[in-house]
Formats: sequence, structure tokens, C-alpha cells
Amino acid sequence: MTQTTTTTRRKTGLSFEVFPPKKDDEFDNVYPILQQLAALHPDFISCTYGAGGSRAGKTIEITSYIQQQLHIDAIAHITCVGFTTDDLHRNCEALKEAGVNHVLALRGDRPLSMSDEQFDSREFYYATDLVRHLKEHTDLQIAGACYPEKHFEAPSLEEDLRHLKEKVEAGVTSLVSQMFFDNTFFYRFLDKAHTMGIHVPIHAGIMPITTAKQLGTTVSLSGSSVPKALADIIATYGDDKEDMRKAGIDYAVRQIRDLREHGVDGIHIYSMNKVKTTTEICQQL
Ligand code: FAD
Repeated sequence: MTQTTTTTRRKTGLSFEVFPPKKDDEFDNVYPILQQLAALHPDFISCTYGAGGSRAGKTIEITSYIQQQLHIDAIAHITCVGFTTDDLHRNCEALKEAGVNHVLALRGDRPLSMSDEQFDSREFYYATDLVRHLKEHTDLQIAGACYPEKHFEAPSLEEDLRHLKEKVEAGVTSLVSQMFFDNTFFYRFLDKAHTMGIHVPIHAGIMPITTAKQLGTTVSLSGSSVPKALADIIATYGDDKEDMRKAGIDYAVRQIRDLREHGVDGIHIYSMNKVKTTTEICQQL
């Protein structure tokens, strides 16, 4: 990881991301997890939505609990994929009834079970189309996603940023970044985004890597680069479960410290519902 010094300091926010467990019998475990995450005093907790899935209700249940019981700003993810206009209105109505007024509007990826034809015929094509619709028909606060190393389909970072600007102009009031392991990508991205006139808060996505296998899966899903320092950790500690966990936490802590020193707007930890790891990171910070 490249560490650099800074001249500006300001308060950096903290947030977590959780997901609804796939199996119903695991679902009850999510509440103690949320309680423990709440004890770390995040500014918000967001909950993912499985694109094209039928579990939008679970995202609503979880975000409602975060908002109503834990009194923490809850952000419900919603995707273009799997939502018709009618579904969207029903979902927004349910969110309102559940007391949730903040969403992360995403395009979503094609689920394995969906054909290209089905994927391409979605009613909202890009996240920006969803944002425009939400802005026109609801009073929800809307966040969006961004990609420090560019989205995998974008021909260049510049082109991706042009579309990001459209998304912000459509009504997005904050951005949460894809995970990255080398802070220099994030700083370069911030510079370019600011130059282009994107000035909403941008939360830096941090994924703690605690097993060698997890890095492989994460990189194939996110396309994020793996710097030598992280590859070395895997090579050195990958075979030892506890040492690997400690080294992965240490890496995330160093990454976050550097980001804070640079005065970034927020740190968004992809907690993956792992309370122990998330708590240890926060304690070390
Ligand atoms: P968009 O903003 O629509 O961008 C997608 C691509 O289209 C980009 O390459 C962009 O440059 C391009 N583009 C945008 N507008 C135009 C235009 N007008 N013309 C041409 N090209 C254009 N997925 C889930 O299924 N569920 C989740 O809960 C979830 N949570 C996420 C949380 C975060 C913080 C992040 C970073 C991602 C998340 N994802 C989730 C994954 C996300 O759905 C995928 O990364 C998806 O491929 C892109 O979503 P987006 O909203 O960024 O898309």
C-alpha cells in the first residue's frame, strides 16, 4: 500500500454494509450482529439487495430494524435488475412504512439465472435512470455507487466519471465506492471527480481480507487491483488461519488510517456480517 502524507484533516465518517442471510434459519442471527455493529457508532449501516432476487422484503426488514430499533441511519440497496416500475413503487411504499428514507440506487449485475435478453430488457437501464425516477416520484434520499478503478464495463475512468456526474446531477447526494486495496487509486479518483465538479461526499469502500480464499473471490467480483503488500501478506500468512486474520485486519487498519489522514469523507466497511473482524478494526483505530 502506498502511504502518503497530507495537509488537510477533517472528521471522517464511518459506516458498515451488511447483507440479508440467504437461509431463513440464519436470518435471526442478523439482529445480534446489527446490535453489535450499532455499538461501534457508525453514521449509517447499509443493507444489500440480491439483484433479480425475491428477497427485497429482507432488505426492508433489516433496514427497518436499523432505523427504528437501533436509531441509526439505514440505507436500503435497490437495483434496476429485478425491479419493474410497479415493483419499485411497491418497494418504496414498503420502505416508507418501515420508516426507511434512504436508498442506494444501483444498476445490479446479471444474476446467473437470468438470460442476457432478460437482463437487457430491464425497465431502468442504468442506475441514473432509477435515480431520476426516484427523484421524481419519491422524497427518498438517494446514494449511488462509484468505482475508484473504474467500473469493469467502462472503456475508461474518464468515461465512467462522466456517467457518474450524470448520476449525481440526477439526484444522488452521496457516493459509496467499490472496494479498493491501494489508496492511490482512491486519491487519483477523488482528484478527477472533484475536477469534474463532483462534490457530494464519497465514502471509501474497505473490505478486510481475512482469508486467502476471500481475496480470490473478492477480486474476481470487484476487479480491484491487489498491491504487492497485500499479495505478500497472503503469501506469508495465507496458510495460517489466525495469523492471516490478524494480518488482514492490520492491513485494513493501515489503509483506513491513511485515508483518515487524507481527510476522506467516510470509511465504508464491507463488514460481510463479520462482527468480530469489524469490531477489532474499529478498536484498533
Ligand atoms: P451504473 O451507475 O448504471 O453504471 C454501470 C455501467 O454503465 C458503468 O460502466 C457506467 O460507466 C455505465 N453507464 C452509466 N450510464 C451510462 C450511459 N448513460 N451510457 C453508457 N454507459 C453508462 N449489486 C447488487 O446486486 N446488490 C447490491 O446490494 C449491491 N450493492 C453495491 C454496493 C456498492 C457500494 C457497490 C460499489 C456496488 C454494489 N453492487 C450491488 C454492485 C453493482 O450493482 C454493480 O457494480 C453494477 O455492475 C453497477 O452498478 P452501478 O449502480 O454502479 O451502475
